[in-house]
Amino acid sequence: MTGAAPDRDDPLAFVRAAFDLPEGIIYLDGNSLGPPPRAALEALSHAAAHEWGRDLITSWNKADWIGLPMRTGDRIAALAGAPEGSVLCADSVSVNIFKLAAALVNAGAPAVAVEAGDFPTDGYILEGLSRLSGARFELLEPGAGPQTACEGGVLVKSAVHFRTAQIADIAAEEALAARRGVSIIWDVSHGAGVVDLNLAANGARYAVGCGYKFLNGGPGAPAFVHVHPGMADRLDQPLSGWMGHADPFAFADGYRPAPGVARFGAGTPAILSMTALHAALGVFEGLDMAALHAKAMRLGDVFLEGAARLGLESVSPGRGELRGGHVSLRHRDGYEIIQALIARGVIGDFRTPDLMRFGFSPLILSYDDAAQAARILCGIVESGAYKDPAFARRGAVT
Ligand SMILES: *Cc1c(COP(=O)(O)O)cnc(C)c1O
Repeated sequence: MTGAAPDRDDPLAFVRAAFDLPEGIIYLDGNSLGPPPRAALEALSHAAAHEWGRDLITSWNKADWIGLPMRTGDRIAALAGAPEGSVLCADSVSVNIFKLAAALVNAGAPAVAVEAGDFPTDGYILEGLSRLSGARFELLEPGAGPQTACEGGVLVKSAVHFRTAQIADIAAEEALAARRGVSIIWDVSHGAGVVDLNLAANGARYAVGCGYKFLNGGPGAPAFVHVHPGMADRLDQPLSGWMGHADPFAFADGYRPAPGVARFGAGTPAILSMTALHAALGVFEGLDMAALHAKAMRLGDVFLEGAARLGLESVSPGRGELRGGHVSLRHRDGYEIIQALIARGVIGDFRTPDLMRFGFSPLILSYDDAAQAARILCGIVESGAYKDPAFARRGAVT
């Protein structure tokens, strides 16, 4: 595929203009840090200079800072297929997993489980919760799902796997979970903004996700937590700070949880970061998530086709199959190859021990970008250019 023809017919091509992208870069890391939408940069400088700089503390009311976590949550709910009012933007994914899993332990769950090889923080947090609460920590086999989790327990599971981009069948897993009384907390960090999660229709009751990946909220953007409206009022989350109180400005001595998912608030929200995320989410308005996912997969297909002659092992579902928004190829010298690609303007990332990850954000990339990135990858691998010692130096972040 040359890429030119599908780009001419791409109904999503116009979206790229909403972003401020550097010249000469093919950015294949929107799954790890989304690029800035122009609207996010504008909102950020307006909030800093005007709302904070001029209106000062009055902006809590005047700019509705106090309502920002739920307003931002509603934009996320819209693209994740969750009901309005069921998503709160707050904290990090790690902290939200803690709050949600702890609330389910408080409701009687005897164990907390994660699959081996899933995103590490998910398991780390559950280990800590286990030490604190006495709930048993279970490390399940990869892909084991709710069948092997403890009856009545909690399972934290990625909707799109960060290494392989394998998509979980949320509806099927929820059906299995229901039979055994397992509560699944879906970690949709690598899915939100790129796959059609359809949380409510698929029966997902609990979810957490990331604001800085495909949602393009900026480095360290706040995360989000979703609780099905029927469940939230029964949950007692232990980080019961004033921002989850029913009436924070009553300054009462006793804690009384806010109704619904708002009780998952804890401390004061990071207004500047959340302002950027809120504006970034505006890019998704009017876009069909199924169409975005289809484009992401086709971009990945074009890339895989272009790189096929290298014969590298892909750990992702293959060409034309269902997968999330990235593809991962295996190479012993993956780190060096990624560095050599970055030096040539193609930015992907490396996940130890040998995975090269390439993210295909359908908002910013053309089919020609995907084909060109594959050509540059082929050139680097076939010429051995990555063996230059300069590419072996490792930074703190890979
Ligand atoms: C990126 C990511 C996280 C990040 O967690 P933070 O606590 O927000 O840093 C968690 N889980 C998954 C699956 C991720 O991809």
